[in-house]
Amino acid sequence: MHYQRTFKNLVAGFALAAWAVLAAAQTAKPNVVILATGGTIAGAGATTANSASYAAAKVPVDKLIAGVPELKDVANVTGEQVFQIASEAFTNEKLVQLAKRVAQLAAQPGVDGIVITHGTDTAEETAYFLSLVVHTDKPIVLVASMRPSTSMSADGMLNLYDAVVVAGDKASRGKGTLLVMNDEIHSGREATKRVNIKTNAFYSQWGPLGMVVEGKTYWFRNPVKTHTSQSEFDIANIDTLPMVQIVYATGQMYPEMYEGAMKLGAKAIIHAGTGNGSVANYMVDTMRGMRAKGVQIIRSARVPDGFVLRNGEQPDDKYDWVVAHDLNPQKARILAAVALTKTNDAKELQRIFWQY
Ligand code: ASP
Repeated sequence: MHYQRTFKNLVAGFALAAWAVLAAAQTAKPNVVILATGGTIAGAGATTANSASYAAAKVPVDKLIAGVPELKDVANVTGEQVFQIASEAFTNEKLVQLAKRVAQLAAQPGVDGIVITHGTDTAEETAYFLSLVVHTDKPIVLVASMRPSTSMSADGMLNLYDAVVVAGDKASRGKGTLLVMNDEIHSGREATKRVNIKTNAFYSQWGPLGMVVEGKTYWFRNPVKTHTSQSEFDIANIDTLPMVQIVYATGQMYPEMYEGAMKLGAKAIIHAGTGNGSVANYMVDTMRGMRAKGVQIIRSARVPDGFVLRNGEQPDDKYDWVVAHDLNPQKARILAAVALTKTNDAKELQRIFWQY
């Protein structure tokens, strides 16, 4: 009787100790919130052979998480469905809504990192926007896939696992928003979708910041442009974004392309210029006329790499124009919209384009 009780106590003691060890291991893992917005990573195709034709934004966040049981080995993961859309359907309103939710979560002491599942098409715009307006050092990691989860060799599972690893890693802090795909960790400011169909969709002209391999991050460089906690912009003060439109330059241009955007209400035009952001001589008067009416003219380039030289192809000082530095037109649109919430001075805008 006495021995029986001692044995029972011993077993109970062991069980308690085992539970305490398990609980400690559980709490030692980082807490990562996955915000799901849709995209191919939540896509579904008709057959396993459909790797490129499918419907995006079908699989809910709980199923995404359940599809990668290994996530619970690296983090305490919770999920939230913010949107269920293909990313080409993102709007300024949705960007603002998402950023406010990210900022709320980042402010919670119990959250260590945030992953955002997103379509590849506009992930680069969302990543850059968040890096400009969310004040936090905690990792904010965008992740996507090129193949739907139903396809053979779907890339979303490993990408999601990698993103959660990066979001939970203290070494990822203070690096601005990140975009994880195909084993690479890109700066959210620099990553751009360069390839369709293939799984190595993203590219950064100055190189990725690091890599993530088998649950471990490897870092090679830091971003130098101002971002997140150091940014002068804060989503707490932004409820709407001013309209900024891109005009894509080709060998035959028409004034109405610019004037139409102005009539729509655009406060700035991103000129996706040929070469070094150049402007056809017969278009210069139209663009100067718009600047005289208060519209900002920002010269970017349709050439993917390099950067636009101020006063290079055009006398920007004389015309009071701005150059987009190394930002591609879609990223220049994001920065211009954010900057215009604070200033409408072209010199100040140029300072912001150098700095961010
Ligand atoms: N059109 C899809 C999207 O951006 C493509 C993708 O996710 O790869 O939502």
